[in-house]
Amino acid sequence: MLTLLAGLALILDSNSKQLLHSLTLESTNMAIKVYYDDDADLSLLKNKTIAIIGYGSQGHAQAQNLRDSGCNVIVGQRPGSANYDLAVSHGFKPVSAADAAAQGDLINVLLPDEVQGDVFKADIKPNLKTGNLLMCSHGFNIHFNQIVPPQGIDCALVAPKGPGHLVRSEYVKGGGVPSLIALSEGASETSRKLALAYAKGIGGTRGGVIETSFAEETETDLFGEQVVLCGGVSALVKAAFETLVEAGYQPEMAYFECMHELKLIVDLFYQGGLNYMRYSVSNTAEYGDYTRGPRIVTDQTKAEMKKILSEIQSGQFAREWILENKANQAGFKAVRRRERAHPIEVVGKQLRKMMTWINAKEY
Ligand code: NDP
Ligand code: MG
Repeated sequence: MLTLLAGLALILDSNSKQLLHSLTLESTNMAIKVYYDDDADLSLLKNKTIAIIGYGSQGHAQAQNLRDSGCNVIVGQRPGSANYDLAVSHGFKPVSAADAAAQGDLINVLLPDEVQGDVFKADIKPNLKTGNLLMCSHGFNIHFNQIVPPQGIDCALVAPKGPGHLVRSEYVKGGGVPSLIALSEGASETSRKLALAYAKGIGGTRGGVIETSFAEETETDLFGEQVVLCGGVSALVKAAFETLVEAGYQPEMAYFECMHELKLIVDLFYQGGLNYMRYSVSNTAEYGDYTRGPRIVTDQTKAEMKKILSEIQSGQFAREWILENKANQAGFKAVRRRERAHPIEVVGKQLRKMMTWINAKEY
């Protein structure tokens, strides 16, 4: 017992030193600016038209919040889809992307990132006028030059840190999802104030709006989704599931232990970080965490993370994804088909039928 504790103390000590070091580095480098309701003036949008192009996850939420904040909103949404009907049912009269761009003073492009470049060139760019503010909720296309705004057009990013349905439901409750704001290089003070007013209109300044840059938003967003949120977590779960199944354990058990229960842990992270998760789980689980976790994510894993980050920073990832789209997503669709058939998906689909409360979504 004593030996165990001593070993644990050593591990904790070296971990916390590292953590302290990086925290100090961060706090000296970064003077974070956060804007709240009082820092933004909605009346600046009074005589302006805001064009929301795309009525999907973000579009439907931002358009409705802005309208409820008293702004004049026009929706650009192609006909023939459920999103078009949704916009109509919400009381909008959707027009084409080109018409919306022509009528908007602020034009927010809320289309999937991989189609924004083409729609911008064909429909939006020819309709831009000097003094318009071109907007987005993710910097990929501007940062990686798929959207090159003409002279005299400033760009602003207002990115809610949550999915559209949350942006809408929090706003309706009187709250707001914290958001990021960024301005293109050399953007005017007027553009900054308009972007802040926009952020207030969607409810962002109720939660707090953090200032960033197009580069930082784009690169950290891609890194997070590749290394942790989508890529890292999926690979970890699959490898653990396969390890148990290959060792002869029942796939159902492997599913529960390696995928299903992840939600409980993530909910604890969400509410109180690693500390709260470790406070809530058993001491046995906590000890296993400290002593085994670092054997899974090793120095080699971290070196690979750095490589992935440099591919993002150099534009290598962006170029690959843009070319993949030009090739009609040939490789992307092939790997998607293969992934969909993974045994963890097959067993998961069956098990979720036993848990009516989870509101299973099978695609
Ligand atoms: P969605 O996929 O939910 O919606 C996309 C919209 O674009 C739909 O209205 C869709 O209409 C339309 N659309 C799709 N393809 C085309 C096309 N070829 N031509 C014209 N219209 C098209 O997108 P999101 O709301 O998720 O994403 C929008 C932006 O917001 C992205 O930049 C994203 O990175 C960013 N963002 C998204 C977040 C999220 O949680 N979803 C969070 C923060 C930022 P149709 O129904 O006709 O296909
Ligand atoms: Mg993200």
